[in-house]
Amino acid sequence: MWVRRQEKMILRKGAPLDDAQIADARRIGVVYPERVRTLVVKTIPPRLSRPIAALAARLGLAPSSTIGMALGYGIFLRADFAASRALLLHELAHTAQYERLGFRPFLAQYLHECLAGGYPNGALEREAQRLATEVVHRSPVNSCDKTAGRAARD
Ligand SMILES: [Zn+2]
Repeated sequence: MWVRRQEKMILRKGAPLDDAQIADARRIGVVYPERVRTLVVKTIPPRLSRPIAALAARLGLAPSSTIGMALGYGIFLRADFAASRALLLHELAHTAQYERLGFRPFLAQYLHECLAGGYPNGALEREAQRLATEVVHRSPVNSCDKTAGRAARD
């Protein structure tokens, strides 16, 4: 399964969370934050075959609008948003959903919400946005996060 392969690759190549990020992961409900790895990439997903990438771009489906993606404990972060706490929190909220629902049930529900035209208004997406916002408000850090608004919408 593509998603599992991507997760394995992130777990192999990615970086563990630092202490502050582990605290954030706990705040948002991740049970095993030490299992999480993040991998910074230029585009998400990182590798599409060139003909598919070109076709997607022509159709206006370039992955350029995706700035983060959680695949179980593996999290892709796009390079220009890699420092965004709000984005990481959002993706960690999805990791917590994977833990809570199980890998395949999460994916099935998430894809269903997307395909049903609900994105970004499906229940899982809304919950991730709400939790990320709550944690930022409850535990503000002393940093200027200009990307928070955009990240919260991903
Ligand atoms: Zn999301």
